[in-house]
Amino acid sequence: MKRIFTIVGARPQFVKAAAVSRMLKKHGIDEVLVHTGQHFDANMSDVFFEEMEIPKPDHNLNINGLTHGAMTGRMLEGIEKLLLQEQPDAVMVFGDTNSTLAGALAAKKINIPVIHVEAGLRSFNMKMPEEINRIITDRISDILFCPTENAIQNLKREGFDLFPVKIIKNGDVMQDAAYYYAQKAALKSTIIEQLGLHHFVLATIHRQENTDDIQKLHHLIDGLNAINHEIPVVLPLHPRTEHILSQCHIRSKCIIIKPVGYFDMIRLLKSCQLVITDSGGVQKEAFFFGKHCITLREETEWVELVENGFNTLVGADENLLFAAYHTMKQKQSDFSLNLYGNGTAAEQIALTIKEL
Ligand code: UDP
Repeated sequence: MKRIFTIVGARPQFVKAAAVSRMLKKHGIDEVLVHTGQHFDANMSDVFFEEMEIPKPDHNLNINGLTHGAMTGRMLEGIEKLLLQEQPDAVMVFGDTNSTLAGALAAKKINIPVIHVEAGLRSFNMKMPEEINRIITDRISDILFCPTENAIQNLKREGFDLFPVKIIKNGDVMQDAAYYYAQKAALKSTIIEQLGLHHFVLATIHRQENTDDIQKLHHLIDGLNAINHEIPVVLPLHPRTEHILSQCHIRSKCIIIKPVGYFDMIRLLKSCQLVITDSGGVQKEAFFFGKHCITLREETEWVELVENGFNTLVGADENLLFAAYHTMKQKQSDFSLNLYGNGTAAEQIALTIKEL
């Protein structure tokens, strides 16, 4: 029986791991789940494990609240120790966080094959910590599961065709998760009834490039406040953003709620008029649930959404944001375009691992 070490640590990774974990189980693959502890609050971590029935982590390193270097370094040390004890057949990492990089690096240095899920994505913005994590993780991975054709092309441009690695376009595991859990969310979430809203915009802000630049954050909040004059804006606030807003006395007039669990998030996405976000995952989820999206960044890794008119980039410009709201709210699009695979992304990963 194959034995896989899965490394997770941050919210988007719980969603991705949920989809893959289910398929590993279905195909009889033994999974050892390691939580680095990067996200640890009940509503940033526990709720995902409970709702999505992700197996309880076998190990929790409880590493959080540190600078990038300290966090990655301590994770590297912790994961290496576990790998030396458990000697898995491969290590699987997701996306682009410090947990992704630490997991991949720890494994590769002791010659354990690395599987990167959501490989090949690029923003081409080297100021983003996530971009650095992605590039390094891809370069030291042995099997690269790419969600899109653009991701495949990015790797080709970087010469990956010449490397002895497996590159597989399997689609997006977040799409698998969104469709699978949507049915459960419809039965279990009461967020719309709690908020008493049927006509609203859903917004999220948490990217370091927006939260750590106070000017930018001011502009974004001003832009959202202006939209909130016309239609309620629901803002489930990431703890980092909440902390900075309160420290800097920036006042939002939007409907601020605590970060929600995945089921509530799905219902918010399905029920809203439009999505405004700087999240990678939420840009795609807007598309999965047939909503247009305004992205609070200068660039995106999910370029196919912009190319096809489902998404528009406004950076941190409040006037552009307000104008984009007016354009996007009128827009009619056909969301049936297949951009992210046929819903078997996670199963393809499990089948590939079975053959290792
Ligand atoms: N999410 C959630 N509750 C929230 C905000 C986001 O469940 O209050 C989910 C969202 O639906 C997506 C994932 O968290 O599946 C995205 O995480 P995040 O935006 O933190 O990270 P990114 O995708 O930008 O890396």
